[in-house]
Amino acid sequence: AIEVRDLHKSFGDNEVLKGIDFHVDQGEVVCVIGPSGSGKSTLLRCVNRLEEPTSGTIIVEGVDITDEDTDLDKVRTRIGMVFQQFNLFPHLNVLRNLTLAQIRAKKRGRAEAEEIARRNLAKVGLAEKADAFPSQLSGGQQQRVAIARALSMDPDMMLFDEPTSALDPELVGDVLDVMKQLARDGMTMMVVTHEMGFAREVGDRVVFMDGGVVVEQGKPEDVLGNPQHERTQGFLSKVL
Ligand code: ATP
Ligand code: MG
Repeated sequence: AIEVRDLHKSFGDNEVLKGIDFHVDQGEVVCVIGPSGSGKSTLLRCVNRLEEPTSGTIIVEGVDITDEDTDLDKVRTRIGMVFQQFNLFPHLNVLRNLTLAQIRAKKRGRAEAEEIARRNLAKVGLAEKADAFPSQLSGGQQQRVAIARALSMDPDMMLFDEPTSALDPELVGDVLDVMKQLARDGMTMMVVTHEMGFAREVGDRVVFMDGGVVVEQGKPEDVLGNPQHERTQGFLSKVL
């Protein structure tokens, strides 16, 4: 679970997050939507301290990650991250991409790491691609490999930042299907997305951000179907 309280983040004198209260409960899928520049990625990146919060509290699985004494490396191994860019190692085949962090950060032996890697490749429908190199895969396949890599670390939760935005339209569905399956399996997920269909169908809650604040949140059918705030209505009229 994630709990964010009164989070502020500034870059120089540009205050990008202006007091965010946000939470993702155990097993919950929360979709974060909002216009470009509203602070969605910054919020997500603060959750595993890829960005340093200016002030506020972030508690991940009961651990205050804004506390100086927290072992960030340890916390990060429990949080799977998937970005718009797949960030696979181009010089390593798929299997090695999936075993590297397991061996280095989780101290698993090679055989165990490979077994876990193959299981997760099967889960994303790419069991036969273990020996392929990233350049031999489509964007959608690379993104599914990135998801399998994150899952191989046995995360407690997964953070997605527009995982389908860089994909050709015909490849988006396969990636969303994998994410839907993860949600059904009970994974705790924070998903920044422009895919309103996914948010409506899979999200337990939708959070609308604009200008560094949470403007509105609630059940997908409420926020997307009957938004209360003018800013939400304006945004949705452009994207739906
Ligand atoms: P998008 O939908 O385009 O991805 P977003 O909601 O994810 O937008 P952020 O990436 O969080 O928005 O950016 C919010 C604001 O913070 C923007 O004005 C951006 O220029 C600024 N910003 C983000 N990262 C940095 C950085 N490392 N240094 C300075 N400014 C930054
Ligand atoms: Mg972003």
